This record gives sequence, C-alpha cells and structure tokens, in this order.
Amino acid sequence: MTPAFDDRDGVIWMDGELKPWREANVHVLTHGLHYASSIFEGERAYNGVIFKLREHTERLFASARLLGFEIPYTVEEIDAACDRVVSENGLVDAYVRPVAWRGSEMMAVSAQHATIHVAIAAWAWPSMYDPAEKLKGIRLAWAEWKRPNPETIPVKAKAAGLYMICTLSKHAAEAKGFHDALMLDWRGYVAEATGANIFFVRDGEIHTPITDCTLDGITRRTVIDLAAARQLKVIERHIDGSEIVDGAFAECFLTGTAAEVTPVASIGEVTFPERTISQAMMEDYAALVRKAGAAATPAPVVA
Ligand code: PMP
Repeated sequence: MTPAFDDRDGVIWMDGELKPWREANVHVLTHGLHYASSIFEGERAYNGVIFKLREHTERLFASARLLGFEIPYTVEEIDAACDRVVSENGLVDAYVRPVAWRGSEMMAVSAQHATIHVAIAAWAWPSMYDPAEKLKGIRLAWAEWKRPNPETIPVKAKAAGLYMICTLSKHAAEAKGFHDALMLDWRGYVAEATGANIFFVRDGEIHTPITDCTLDGITRRTVIDLAAARQLKVIERHIDGSEIVDGAFAECFLTGTAAEVTPVASIGEVTFPERTISQAMMEDYAALVRKAGAAATPAPVVA
C-alpha cells in the first residue's frame, strides 16, 4: 500500500514557508474542516513544469472569492510557491495540490475574523502514457446525486463542499464494479464525472455540456482548443440525460488534470464503440503537456 499522505518525506509550503512534510498540520477545530470553507486546485507537472499553472492559480483565487474570502498572497507568489514545492521535493512528473481554508479563530457558522491559510503539497505522479490501455475506455455508472442549482451553492468554485456528492457517487460506482460515475445536474442535463468533464462524438462532431452547473475544467478548455486546431466542430450545449442511449453517440471521453483525456467505453448499459476522435484528442493532449514541459527545460550544462 502507498504510504498515507500525512506520513511522507519532503516539504510542504504552508502559510509562506516550507515545512517538513509531517509538520504541515492543522488543529481539529478548524473552520475549513467543520464548515467546508475550503477550496483547492489540482495541477500536474510534466518534466518539472506545471501545465497551465497561471490558469489554475487564477481559478484558486476565484474559488476563494466565491466562498467570500481573499487569499493573502498574490497570484505571482502562489505560482512561485507551486514551482518551488515541485523543485524542492525533487519532482519531475507530479501532482500539485494548493489548498486554502478558514482557520480556527472562530468555531461557528460565522467566521468573519478567521485567518485564511494556504498550503501547497506535491507528490510524484508518473506521466505514464499507455495509449493501448487507455483506449479500452472506462466504465461509468449513473450517479444518484445531481449537480446542484447555481442558486443553491457556488457551483463554479473548486470547493471542498462540492465534492461531498462526488465521493458518494464514486464510492457507489466502485461498489458496483464501475470506474467512475456520471452525474446529471438538477435539471436532468448531463453534467460531469466525479472529477472530470465529459465529451461525446456524433458524426465527427464533438458535443460537450455547457458548464453552468459544473467546474469549467482547464483540460476541457484545452481540448476544445485542440479540437479547433484540427478543424473539428465543438458544440457546447445542454445534453439531456435521455439522449444517452445506444447509437446516439459513437464516442465519449472525459477530460481533467488527473484524467487527461480518458475514453469512456460505457455509461450504464450504453456503449461507445469508436475511438477515432478520442484517440486524436488523447494524443494531442499528451503531446501538448509534454511539449510545454520540454520547452521550459533548461539545456543540460555540458562540462
Ligand atoms: N470537474 C470536476 C468535478 C473536477 O474535480 C475536475 C478536476 N479538477 C474537473 C471537472 C476537470 O477540471 P480540470 O480540467 O481543470 O482539472
């Protein structure tokens, strides 16, 4: 088994300084833990370079504002801290996790005077790319939980509270032998998987849900650009859950920082037999993230 996340070697950036990994702790009476006043990001470094770091940092700041707090650093400082965590831990291909939360000064719903804390951890995440394995596709179950109405909760925030239904849905799917779950939104439109956006392909055209109830994924935007570069038509629209029937779409794939581009073999009983565009997007994305890393790598010093 991999070691628990609180018992590893390395350093974590916490409130402006690097701390030994095992000492980057919070008290149990922390507002973020009790009332979900916590937001985070999920980033990937390829060859030592964090892909689209600025976009992730900007989303981190936007998520904080949606929860009514300001991160007490500049975007530039957080970018630099993310890079520093990758390099100080000697990481090359890594996952990077910035998180910000309200602290312990107040232990009630109201926490106007709570201090805002920020931490950034990173750990090795091999950038393995096995197209043959990926092309088999994953199997999604239908989630019982629905993405909420934007009037119910700030759906655009990458906020801890919004992941409660993701964990419930993922656990239920795994218990039934599926890889992940697909959530509809409160209106019955296709929304997203528990940690990734979704795309469908029909007649050579790509369809993807409007992100009015879901996270507007950075990978999703990247893939839309990659599709445009191949002159593929991308239609962003509401996709009703009732449209997901056999034969309606030839392909389906997920996008996300962790998922990258992952073909979907089936949703419930509905299957997606083809992979042509999924494979093209998978390959284009794999090339792009590695190109970004390679371009920024300093030339080796030859003595
Ligand atoms: N939706 C959810 C619920 C997610 O957790 C993620 C992963 N951050 C995504 C979509 C994809 O977002 P991104 O491409 O920015 O990683």
